[in-house]
Amino acid sequence: MSDKLEHILKSYFGYDTFRPGQKQVIVDVVNGFNTLAVMPTGGGKSLCYQIPGLTLDGTAIIISPLISLMKDQVDALHALGIKATYLNSSLSPKEQQERLSDIAAGQYTFVYVAPERFESNLFANTIRQLNISLVAFDEAHCISQWGHDFRPSYRSIVPRLKKLTNIPVYVALTATATEDVMTDIRTLLDISPDHMVNTGFERDNLSFHLVKGKNKATYIKHFLDERKGESGIIYTATRKQADALYDQLRRQGTAVEKYHAGLTEDERKEAQSAFVHDEAAIMIATNAFGMGIDKSNVRFVIHYAMPMNIESYYQEAGRAGRDGEPSDCILLYSPQDVQLQKFLIEQSLADEDAKQNEYRKLQAMMNYCHTNSCLTAFILDYFGDQPGYDACERCSNCSDQQEKVDITEEAQMILSCVKRMGERFGVSMTAKVLKGSRDKRIREFGLEDLSTFGLLSAYTEKDLSDRIQFLVAENVLATEEGKFPTLKLNQKSVDVLKGKQHVFMKAALVPTRELDDDYHGDLFESLRQLRKDMADAQAVPPYVIFSDATLKEFARYLPDTESDMLTITGVGEKKYAKYGEAFMEAIGVWKQAHPDAGKTKTVKIGGAPVIRDVKAKDVDDRPSHMISYQMFQSGIALKDIAIRRNIEKQTVESHIFKAAQEGYPVVWGIFFNEEQEENVLSVHENLEEPKLKTIKEHLPEAYDYTLIKAVLVKNALM
Ligand code: ADP
Ligand code: MG
Ligand code: ZN
Repeated sequence: MSDKLEHILKSYFGYDTFRPGQKQVIVDVVNGFNTLAVMPTGGGKSLCYQIPGLTLDGTAIIISPLISLMKDQVDALHALGIKATYLNSSLSPKEQQERLSDIAAGQYTFVYVAPERFESNLFANTIRQLNISLVAFDEAHCISQWGHDFRPSYRSIVPRLKKLTNIPVYVALTATATEDVMTDIRTLLDISPDHMVNTGFERDNLSFHLVKGKNKATYIKHFLDERKGESGIIYTATRKQADALYDQLRRQGTAVEKYHAGLTEDERKEAQSAFVHDEAAIMIATNAFGMGIDKSNVRFVIHYAMPMNIESYYQEAGRAGRDGEPSDCILLYSPQDVQLQKFLIEQSLADEDAKQNEYRKLQAMMNYCHTNSCLTAFILDYFGDQPGYDACERCSNCSDQQEKVDITEEAQMILSCVKRMGERFGVSMTAKVLKGSRDKRIREFGLEDLSTFGLLSAYTEKDLSDRIQFLVAENVLATEEGKFPTLKLNQKSVDVLKGKQHVFMKAALVPTRELDDDYHGDLFESLRQLRKDMADAQAVPPYVIFSDATLKEFARYLPDTESDMLTITGVGEKKYAKYGEAFMEAIGVWKQAHPDAGKTKTVKIGGAPVIRDVKAKDVDDRPSHMISYQMFQSGIALKDIAIRRNIEKQTVESHIFKAAQEGYPVVWGIFFNEEQEENVLSVHENLEEPKLKTIKEHLPEAYDYTLIKAVLVKNALM
């Protein structure tokens, strides 16, 4: 059978090899086992039901909530010479009738339908009499109320289908499923754990970036300038933001389209079509856009503001790079984003439990925006997926060269302040107390008498809020869920307070004063002189040209290109055009005299960093067996390692053994127990020429080669 599957893959689809997990799913389905396939976007889920559909006798029914995709998918099958059709509300009643009778006549190998179809008796009766090969649930997370896109009509068809006796096998496919959702789907569709194929969520062609403290519009403008011609999506949190950004970029001469629920259907269709057909490279949209988009060459997805949860973020960001080519996912974060999301939660939900649930997810999203650890690992961990490494080496946190600084002392001050405030307040009040703010609420609560009042007065309130959020993200502080989450201490806080655990942060908690000193003073002076000369020549006050803060940033980040210049606070388009070159030249002259200065800094912060620093790491240069070994050590089952790496399970085993032979520690418990080890060893001892085969012959059937090998490797007998 195996050869036959490969033959179909090649002859119909033109591909030489299966992607990870595909073959397992196909084999399971063809053998009649209900199967759940969890694979990332672009992982190739369609083939997982299409090849079984081509192999098995009868018509395959594909249930999909994405009406807009059905036509494309059917067209794609037609192009391959495969008989397929779809039924949904976009067809006239007459068309529906005609298709239905063709379906009844068994004319199609594939039929795509929307879940609502099953509410029609006519359709249900047709299905009942059909010779069905399989039923596939695409986007199966929509079945589950734990999913982020629950559709009741999707769930309600399951009991109806179960009443039918002519459905030989189900296959469910999804890209985003948490543990809850996966269990839910399996229970509903009677899928045994043995027939769940989970390749993990990682998309190793995507690089995640977090950008904070930049002017968002300016950042985007530079980014687009650098990535001219590439296709990308910019998601905004509201229609208003979409409109504003659209107008602004249009004014600057960038060709963009927009898409949101406030536009007419025709406008939306036109915009979508221009984007999909590569007439317009950039789409600015709210989350209304994208569900039905299969465009494979999207090179970047920028989030103009923080989305409401990691599920939506990963799904939207995941629209980049379906073709497997390196692509960037950038989140532009600012603290106001949080307020907006809270507002949206309050507006859209009435149920208290549902709200709490959303607040919990929002907190995770905020943690993502404040963590110093690997962003990819953070996301995978959120979905319960073990990445098998600590650092992906391609996200902005991993590629950030900044040194880690011990901030344990500051953390202790913050924690004791939270404690003294009775664990009854949130981030902003705590920051105010530490700052020693004169806010009248501080007085009302009598907080100015606390010993921690003004303890960190050298920092700005914003900096303090940032550090507190960072401690939350690193789980050194806990938050109560809700709209105004109060800060609480947890076990980790206690460890930090006792000095048992240290806290590290990439950028140290530096008082603003010191930060001010972090520039080249002599350059600053010469830039000031330049500014004075220019101001005099134009008869304007110097600050009209650039503020001191801007000059200090010049002297800190040493920008030497237009795009670097434009990332500096206070340098807009106009000002750049007027003054930019003169200052850049002065910086250039200074740099020539100081060749060592700025080598590290310019690249890091001054430039549009996302574009520069990070090139997806194309090759994993660890030896193959070490990759398997490290995945194994992080707790991933052998079977899953095999699926994810698209290699045989035996190969994985030999990788683990090789690592063990090289002296790496291995948890042997999964291979054998003590008794089995003893038995193997005693046979080994008693044999003249102990070979694997002969050892096996002296042991019960249950002792397979892997078990025997494992014992021998462990005891250095191999
Ligand atoms: P998903 O539904 O998992 O997001 P698709 O089924 O749309 O992904 O597949 C994404 C792309 O990958 C499609 O262009 C598809 O033709 C391609 N693809 C699928 N399987 C393979 C394979 N084995 N080899 C090469 N390309 C493949
Ligand atoms: Mg798909
Ligand atoms: Zn990383």
